[in-house]
Amino acid sequence: MAVAYFDHAASTPMHPEVVEAMREFFDGCYANPTGAHRMARDARRATDDARDVLAEALGARPGEIVFCGSGTEGDNLAVFGAAAGEAGPGGSGGTVVCSATEHPAVLRPVEQLGGRVVGVDRGGMLDLDALAAALDGDVRLVSVMLANNETGVVWSLAEVAEVMARHAPGALLHTDAVQAFPWLDVAALATPADLISVSAHKFGGPKGVGALVVRDGVRLQAQIVGGGQEAERRSGTPNVAGIVGMGTAAAVTLARRGEVVQRAGRLRDRLADGLRAAIGGVIETGVHPPAGAGAPVDRSAKVAGSCHLCFEGIESEALLFLAERGGVYASAASACASGAEDPSHVLAAMGYPRSLARGSLRLSLGAASSEADVETALAVLPPAVAQLRRAAA
Ligand code: PLP
Repeated sequence: MAVAYFDHAASTPMHPEVVEAMREFFDGCYANPTGAHRMARDARRATDDARDVLAEALGARPGEIVFCGSGTEGDNLAVFGAAAGEAGPGGSGGTVVCSATEHPAVLRPVEQLGGRVVGVDRGGMLDLDALAAALDGDVRLVSVMLANNETGVVWSLAEVAEVMARHAPGALLHTDAVQAFPWLDVAALATPADLISVSAHKFGGPKGVGALVVRDGVRLQAQIVGGGQEAERRSGTPNVAGIVGMGTAAAVTLARRGEVVQRAGRLRDRLADGLRAAIGGVIETGVHPPAGAGAPVDRSAKVAGSCHLCFEGIESEALLFLAERGGVYASAASACASGAEDPSHVLAAMGYPRSLARGSLRLSLGAASSEADVETALAVLPPAVAQLRRAAA
């Protein structure tokens, strides 16, 4: 049975160009790039080429790119590293602030540091007044994501920076751009950010490699120390093949992003409109209006590949089971990596009742998504929801 893959926000298939580019660094050029001989120099050149591509893609200088082991590691380095760095002008402490809908890779470090968490509204938009109230001269770092991994909602970093300039002018701005990079011009939108994290496997690259932009002059304490690689900011022998794959994936993404956004956006709209028309009692997050079949829907606040729905009266887990049986691979996007059935912290922060959040479904599209995938989802999901509701009645 063909699979309709709607879980690109979790991970994406690697572009064929990426697999090809990485191959040489498994079995031909396998040297440690810090060495002095010719093969080492070749490996170093390859990582530097990838650094150049990432720098351009993120609006940074090559020396500002720190390669690391994942999006999670980049986020941790930004939050823990900034908190341990020097306090900003006029500040004495290292208070960190983030939004309530951050990925756990930011939220957990902020909680561990006893930081402040700022709420969002029902549409998933950051509450800028609450942000202003959470800021003062002691704040060292504000971390807000560019696009949310569950709802796909995009925030304006320019607005955040404007609030920071008034209430915490010495603080650093970090943005988790892991979900934004496949869809948005991060170089332009993250201009106000001092720190930007991305992860290769979300845009057609390999798993286990990420990058953090650390702008010149930003004081950050390394969290992994040892041989002093990445200009003393992240020790450990670099993952040469992974970094080459990430550079290639970034280049492919930049070259095709415009076309992919158009196509995936059209498919996402057909999918979401079709599901809303076929299924009652459904709320689509991050859009206006969130409920109601037939009415035109404004999805302009979201990235093009994101379709996130909450169904009344069903459990995500059961729906995912029936979806998979029909060949549709998706996700509930709740915090259930541990198997716990906690409803999503993102939906909780948006004020969704537990009864609705329990029935959430994230369908995330990508560069390879097709009309046939959408047809499959539209054929499989409505009867699955109906079956579950009948069983619960
Ligand atoms: N940040 C966001 C917004 C994510 O969606 C993810 C992954 O789901 C991460 C960080 C973590 O990235 P990685 O899987 O590379 O650790």
